Parts: sequence; structure tokens; C-alpha cells
Amino acid sequence: MKMRKVLALLAVCAFAVFALAGCGGSQNASSGSGSGAKVLKVGSSIDFAPFEFQDEGQKEYQGFDMDLIRAIGKEMGYEVEIQNLGFDGLIPALQGKNIDVIISGMTINDERKQNVLFSEPYYQSGLTMVVRSDEQGIKTFQDLKGKKVAVQMGTTSAAEVSKIDGVEVKTLNTPADCFMELKAGGVDAVVNDRPVNDYYITKSGATGVKALEEKLTAEDYGIAVGKDNKELQEKINAAFKKIKENGEYDKIFAKWFGEKK
Ligand code: GLN
Repeated sequence: MKMRKVLALLAVCAFAVFALAGCGGSQNASSGSGSGAKVLKVGSSIDFAPFEFQDEGQKEYQGFDMDLIRAIGKEMGYEVEIQNLGFDGLIPALQGKNIDVIISGMTINDERKQNVLFSEPYYQSGLTMVVRSDEQGIKTFQDLKGKKVAVQMGTTSAAEVSKIDGVEVKTLNTPADCFMELKAGGVDAVVNDRPVNDYYITKSGATGVKALEEKLTAEDYGIAVGKDNKELQEKINAAFKKIKENGEYDKIFAKWFGEKK
């Protein structure tokens, strides 16, 4: 009788160990696919050149954020796996533990800090606007009163523009949708992150539109991890510090933005 009890207890223990191992998942960004490699599951909204984008016919996601997270992952000894998710689905995916980190030109702000932990800031950004080249009536953000403005869903642009009185806000899925709407005459302006607006105007050969100088906000981008994942936040900060010190960050910055501003 006694022996049977012991055996039963052993069986329960063994089962518990297997179950735990199976459920560990990527909670601590340590799941491997059985190969022993540590995988960092990264979520990003691949619609934000020059931070994250995909050239037609190319498999690889590219951009400043992509290079940065690959360098950080390498420094941490992790294999980086990037998933393309809609921007407003990134924080829910992190909370649901489908991904371990977000890198997506994501602005560090108090509202998001209630749901995620952010790394040290890695890029200084802010919001500007793009209008049609022949636009005469919009020179500053004050002029947006009574105008139609396109913004990307779930972004700081969407939040900030809705604070300006008398603006008709059109919320679209991607910055590309916003720019298309502007060119088609469906809106009078697009509010979006400065480096993305600048890249759109100067690098993607956009015609008939211009970016205005005035900045609505100054914002810092951060890498987000789960609210309960302080350990990963610290690992990322340590790796980030290392690549800043060893010149890797500067190299990546220069590749996408030229000289450091
Ligand atoms: N920086 C903006 C934000 O965090 C926009 C980011 C994005 O569209 N990828 O809301």
C-alpha cells in the first residue's frame, strides 16, 4: 500500500515536471524549438520605413529597428524571430505572451507604461505633418481646425490630433494608407512620426506632397517587454548599453539616418 502511494506520487511529480516544461513557453524569452537555441519572439508592424519595412519581392524585414533588435538579440545570445502584426495589436500580443518584445517605432508614454515595461530610449522622434505641395492653408498645427487629418490607428498621432479642437480625424491602418488618402484628396494632412514622414518624402520618391517643419511633440522610442518581465527588460538594456559602447549602434544609425543628429 505504502509503495503504491509513493509510486503514485512519483507519477504525479513526473507529470507536473513535463507539464511545466511544456507550458514554460516563451515567458522568459527562453523557449527553443527543441533545438536548444534561445528564441526572442519579436513583434513589429512592418509598415514604418525606415524603422521596419519590407521591399517588394524581398523576404527579409529591414530597417533601423530590425537591425537594432537583431544586434541586441545577438549580444544576448538569442535567435531573433520577427512577426509582422498590426500596430494596435502589438501590446495585446505581448500581454497574451505570443511575443516577448515589441520594437516598432513605439513611443514611450505613461499610458503604455501601465501595460508594458520599456527599455532605455533608443531613438528621439516626434510628430510632424505632411500636406499636398500646393497646400496654402496649413502651415502650423493650429491651422488644422476645420480640416480633415489622417492618422494611423493606435498611435500617438491618433491621440494627439484628437486633442486639437475642430479637427476631423480619419483613422487608417497604416501610414501608407494615410499618405494615399492625402494624395487622393480624401484628407488635407497626415500627422505621423517625423523620421517616417521625412523618409517618405525624400527616399521613397513621393511627389506632390511636402513635410512641414513644425513638431507637435517630442517622443522617444523604446523596446517594450511584458509588464512581468523585468529580467528581459534588464537583459535588453544591458545588451543595448554594450552595442552603444562598442560602436554597433552608431553603425546602424549611420546606415539609416546618415550622421548622428
Ligand atoms: N511612434 C508612434 C507611436 O508610438 C507611431 C508608431 C508606429 O506607427 N509604428 O504611436
